[in-house]
Parts: sequence; C-alpha cells; structure tokens
Amino acid sequence: MLELQGITVAYGQARALWDVSMHVRQGELLCVVGPNGAGKTTLVNTLAGILRPISGRIVMDGRDITQVAPHRYCEAGIALVPEGRRLFTGMTVAENLDVGSLLPAAKAKRRESLGEVLQLFPALREKLKSPAGELSGGQQQMVAIARALMARPRLLLLDEPSLGLSPLIVTDMFRAIRKISASGITIVLVEQNVATALGISHRACVLELGRVVAEGAPDELMKRSEIRRAYLGS
Ligand code: ATP
Repeated sequence: MLELQGITVAYGQARALWDVSMHVRQGELLCVVGPNGAGKTTLVNTLAGILRPISGRIVMDGRDITQVAPHRYCEAGIALVPEGRRLFTGMTVAENLDVGSLLPAAKAKRRESLGEVLQLFPALREKLKSPAGELSGGQQQMVAIARALMARPRLLLLDEPSLGLSPLIVTDMFRAIRKISASGITIVLVEQNVATALGISHRACVLELGRVVAEGAPDELMKRSEIRRAYLGS
C-alpha cells in the first residue's frame, strides 16, 4: 500500500533518517520501535507528508507522492495522530472531531463516522460538549485518535499513543487499536511500549540512529537475543 524507497530526511544539516526503505501492506498493523532519537517521529511525520525527504521516494498504491503537498496526503487517505495529541484544548470534543472531517468526502459521512468513533470510545459520548483540555490524559488520547478516524483514513499513523497514560488506560488503548486494525484500516504504530505493541502487530520494524536495523514478524524479532536485550529487558 505504502512504500518508502531510500528516504533520507534532515533537519538543516542534521540527518535524522538515512536511506530508509520500508513498506506497509494493505490491512497490516506495522509497529515501529527504537530508542529515543532513533527517528520514529521523523518517520511518521514523513509518512504524513509533513516533512519532505531530501532524497528517496514515497509511493502509495503505485503512485509517487513524494512531492505532493501535505494536505494531499490527507486526501490520499493518510491520517496522523501526532505525538502529544495536539488537540484544540479550548474547543469542545465535538468541535475537535469536526476538524477531523473537514474534507468534503469525510464531511459527507460525518454522522456515520461519529457513530463509529463513539462506539469505539463510548466514554467520549458524554464529553462531546466539554472542552477537550478538561479531559483526562486517556480521554484526550481517545479524542486524538477519534479525530483522525473522522477523516475516514485508509492509513492511520499513531505516534506514541500510550505515552504518559496509566497501565490500565494503556490496555484499553491497545484494545481500541486492535479493533481499528480489525476494521480493515492499515496502521503504522510507533511505540515505546515495545512488548505490548509487538503483541498486537502483524509486522515490526526496528529503527536505530535513523536506520532500519531489523524487520520481520514480531515473534521472530522477539527470538533475537539482541532485540530482546535492547527492547524487552531480557
Ligand atoms: P523519541 O522517542 O524521543 O520521540 P524518535 O525516535 O521519535 O525519538 P525523532 O524525534 O524522530 O526520534 O528524532 C530523530 C533525530 O532528529 C534526533 O537526533 C533528534 O534530536 C533530531 N530532531 C528531531 N526533531 C528535530 C528538529 N525539529 N530539529 C532538529 N533536530 C531534530
């Protein structure tokens, strides 16, 4: 569905991704793990069209989208749940969800999408009129994911959705991500919560210092002692 071919991304002179090639298949849940500063956020922001690579190609459904404008990534069916959620905290939950469905195709299905996201996150139903900034961390993360889903994406990019949440809420969050995946939406999930993320993913990719150092089925990666030592503490 989406392929990165030899992507290099830099902030000024400082390179953050070096010749990265990877792909995500239709319907797949791909997990990207790696230590702090490995380039995971840079990778998802590149996949979202927010960062422009200095070399390499991004191909979606066979079409080169490397040079297209960021809003066209949204039109192509890519939605990002950014690190730190980036909600409009002074706006209500309902208004935040409306922002996710501004493009004509999504707007036409706004009511249907709202029903779907409230089924996924029932706790948001009674919060629709509350300012998003007044919600708990877990509920804010639900709004961030729901807002992205309101765009009716085919590819959902999740950057550290469990960051800062209590273990119980993290379990709920991963359950919701599993449901989204089961509904047929392709997902790229960046996570520090490696063991849990690998547990729900179809395939995983390990980034270190801006390079892909391992890739494969989660259970195969977990058998590799260097990966277990680095990411699973054993
Ligand atoms: P973390 O888990 O800490 O969020 P990460 O794997 O997501 O890390 P990135 O945030 O993508 O890593 O950072 C990759 C590299 O790019 C790091 O060396 C980081 O310092 C650098 N970097 C990230 N954002 C910027 C920026 N806006 N300007 C300059 N350098 C940046």
